[in-house]
Amino acid sequence: MKKPIIFWFRQDLRIYDLPGLTAAAATGRPLILCYILDDTSPGKWAPGGASRWWLHHSLCSLGHDIAQHGGTLVLRTGKAKQVLQDLVQETEAVAVHCTRQYEPWAVELEQDLHKTLSLQGIEFKRFAGSLLFEPGRILNKAGLPFKVFTPFWRNCRSTPEPPPPQATPTQVDWYASDMPSDALDSWQLLPVQPDWSTDWHRYWRPGTHGARKALKTFLADKVSDYSDGRDHPALESTTRLSPHLHFGEVSPREVWHAAQRLGHADPSMRDQVDKFLSELGWREFSHHLLYHFPSMDSEPFKEQFSSFPWQGTPDSLLAWQQGQTGYPMVDAGMRELWQTGFMHNRVRMITASFLTKHLLIHWGAGARWFWDTLVDADLANNSSGWQWVAGSGADASPYFRIFNPITQGEKFDAQGGYIRRWVPELSAMPDRYLNRPWEAPSNILEAAGVTLGQTYPAPIVDHRAAREAALSAYGAIRKG
Ligand code: FAD
Repeated sequence: MKKPIIFWFRQDLRIYDLPGLTAAAATGRPLILCYILDDTSPGKWAPGGASRWWLHHSLCSLGHDIAQHGGTLVLRTGKAKQVLQDLVQETEAVAVHCTRQYEPWAVELEQDLHKTLSLQGIEFKRFAGSLLFEPGRILNKAGLPFKVFTPFWRNCRSTPEPPPPQATPTQVDWYASDMPSDALDSWQLLPVQPDWSTDWHRYWRPGTHGARKALKTFLADKVSDYSDGRDHPALESTTRLSPHLHFGEVSPREVWHAAQRLGHADPSMRDQVDKFLSELGWREFSHHLLYHFPSMDSEPFKEQFSSFPWQGTPDSLLAWQQGQTGYPMVDAGMRELWQTGFMHNRVRMITASFLTKHLLIHWGAGARWFWDTLVDADLANNSSGWQWVAGSGADASPYFRIFNPITQGEKFDAQGGYIRRWVPELSAMPDRYLNRPWEAPSNILEAAGVTLGQTYPAPIVDHRAAREAALSAYGAIRKG
């Protein structure tokens, strides 16, 4: 009997467009498919609470898809390096295949596995599959990584298109033995105390089928208004593909080609499709940045921010986390996050700006909270998103551009649908005062059933004073 090959699933929880799986199947050797729950190798970036909820359901879905093709998903827990070595020994596998990842800990692990398994005569092969363009291929004229998005994306768009997605391999010889596998429930990935995920099935369907449905709905109903609609959280006119992309349930190449087909078939959609592709481009850019600058998760990109006088207090961090800052747009976002595991992009920018500039709390504290509460928590996108807003990132918005949480709400939630949904205690406030309830005359507050400081908090900081404090803190590092 031929010796098997192991395909090790990571953040690529699908069974199509996986070059490593296709290559393994093509050898004609029996295939073993495994997923390893490894909370040690990622160090401080082990999946947070919301990601674990997603992972549980995504693995259920993957197991089901594999079973439909006649195979089984073997679940093991422990340090990936040790578990893979054990699996190789147990099955006499000749090779391990996986899809590349770009988090610094993951790159290190891949290098270590490559060295260790090669010494044992086992082939360890890494394949592209998480991104549209491989880091290392997209470089400027001097052969260096781009630090600014626009030329980066221009360069990506001038290289050959990513190849079309590959189908699920059909000629697979499954490894016959009944291998021991953990029961998924025994991993206890679902939140218990508190179980803040009770409603999440209303919003999400983890797995490839859910991802494809979201993509299809977007291309059929939403893309025509994407450029403008994507900034208005009440409209929900974006794809909500981010957790599916993070866990690799949908291939970025499938998303790319599905959007391109629409753009080719209907030229009136071209600009919308290009705008959408450029958002996928931001995902590429963040991953390329993290690959080339592996300390981006903890060190400011712009050196001078190392001495930024962060000042926030634990009380103000807590008020932000709980959506009790007294700024309705900020509170709506933080509550959407807690109740659904997601926050709209525009509101991520507003809440992150409020934390770093109005409260002067280090962006790392915000990134950590997002890490634990977002179903799409992704080290590259989260670190670059936070550094962008804080002003310390590559190609960040200039520090003096401080988001005004009041006017941002008035502009991007003009009818107040988003705030009224997530901050229901303000639902009867008239539009004029919805983003500034402290300015409302007492008869208006009374008619809306709002008592500031009781039914809804008074603002925890004054906008103007906070803005001045932020600018003066920034002045200090500019001089320094
Ligand atoms: P769509 O508008 O439909 O975009 C399609 C896809 O493009 C997204 O699914 C996502 O993969 C990618 N994308 C879109 N915008 C961005 C962006 N600004 N940066 C990188 N990729 C982008 N995204 C994450 O996936 N995980 C995170 O942990 C994360 N943390 C963030 C933290 C902050 C402070 C900020 C400002 C942004 C963060 N983002 C993060 C980026 C962005 O907010 C989400 O990707 C987006 O809101 C997901 O919604 P969508 O899938 O409907 O996006």
